[in-house]
Amino acid sequence: MYDYLVVGSGLFGAVFAHEARKNGKSVLMLERRNHVGGNIYCEELDGINIHKYGAHIFHTSYKDVWEYVNQFVEFNNYVNSPVANYKGELYNLPFNMNTFTKLWGVVTPQEAANRIAQQRTVIQGTPQNLEEQAISLVGTDIYTKLIKGYTEKQWGCSCTELPAFIIKRLPVRYTFDNNYFNDKYQGIPIGGYNKLIDALLEGIEVRLGIDYNDNSAEYRKLAAKVVYTGPIDAYFAYSLGRLEYRGLRFETERLEELNHQGVAVMNYTQREIPYTRIIEHKHFEFGTQPVTYITKEYPADWHPGEEAYYPVNNDKNQQLYEKYAARAKQESNVIFGGRLAEYKYYDMDDVIKSALICAEKEF
Ligand SMILES: Cc1cc2nc3c(=O)[nH]c(=O)nc-3n(C[C@H](O)[C@H](O)[C@H](O)COP(=O)(O)OP(=O)(O)OC[C@H]3O[C@@H](n4cnc5c(N)ncnc54)[C@H](O)[C@@H]3O)c2cc1C
Repeated sequence: MYDYLVVGSGLFGAVFAHEARKNGKSVLMLERRNHVGGNIYCEELDGINIHKYGAHIFHTSYKDVWEYVNQFVEFNNYVNSPVANYKGELYNLPFNMNTFTKLWGVVTPQEAANRIAQQRTVIQGTPQNLEEQAISLVGTDIYTKLIKGYTEKQWGCSCTELPAFIIKRLPVRYTFDNNYFNDKYQGIPIGGYNKLIDALLEGIEVRLGIDYNDNSAEYRKLAAKVVYTGPIDAYFAYSLGRLEYRGLRFETERLEELNHQGVAVMNYTQREIPYTRIIEHKHFEFGTQPVTYITKEYPADWHPGEEAYYPVNNDKNQQLYEKYAARAKQESNVIFGGRLAEYKYYDMDDVIKSALICAEKEF
């Protein structure tokens, strides 16, 4: 009998398991996939770490979380500075002075602010949809070239059909600063994310290719407590209905090129191109390999059985989640944690923080 059975080897499960072991507890981990790491898992090809479940950039303002991960792996000084490609015109993101000079030839922050202020006036009164909301925040040019097509691809419908509240604010920076994140700490683990997971799981017994829900009654007997990080509706055999997700489809290609696009992340903001971005993985780690790998990322509808990427936290799903969460509270000796069990979008630092808080309560 183990002290803990941890279901799922993503960051939540791995951090919890590490802390449990550190506190002298015995842990068995079950993982449905044939590898550990959850969505931060990378596959190494030609010496390049391919982010298999979407590009992951570690960024945080939590000093404790930053120090925590740095115990296990060193981080490089990668700074995320994506570029937007609109019909072959390239613009720096997030919206900043580099973007504005390219758009309008302006030189000073005041000139840029005047342009935006002037273009915003086309919307009078309360914005009625996402298009009007975006224009009322950043004006017509930024909306048309950098927001419209990208958003329409992501949601699978026109911006005029989407409600205004989806976009509350659109940060605009009047400095020449292409650093996408505002956080104090940022980087990619040197040698890839698998190093972080492997270090967290050192000494932990892991069984791969096992879905806890296939035989939960038997697995439940293996430990005094269960830490469950899989989908909450699956735990309850979907008895109240299914929670919905947005899906993603990835197409990865190996290219006989040294450098394909010169940046790790290029967003395609025109509607006619079906993918939203192209990731060139080697740039996350300043790779110098003679070949390169790119991944085109397509937004996709999600169907049961497929990989669940983003929760759709609308009223319907949120209400269903609350019902499952109420049931989860009744389960004795089961802890529910992580993005799937809490039906919540979590950045990596937040999920680590949440696992550490959970562990602190336990030990
Ligand atoms: C496309 C994309 C890009 C992202 N980019 C970033 C980024 O740039 N920066 C950032 O900070 N965060 C990013 N994130 C968020 C990041 O992926 C999450 O914070 C993190 O993966 C959450 O860890 P987790 O342990 O909760 O879940 P997961 O990583 O999903 O781990 C859950 C694990 O449980 C396993 N499992 C599920 N059910 C069962 C079962 N029944 N039995 C056994 N095993 C099971 C799964 O196979 C999986 O391995 C991104 C997310 C996505 C989707």
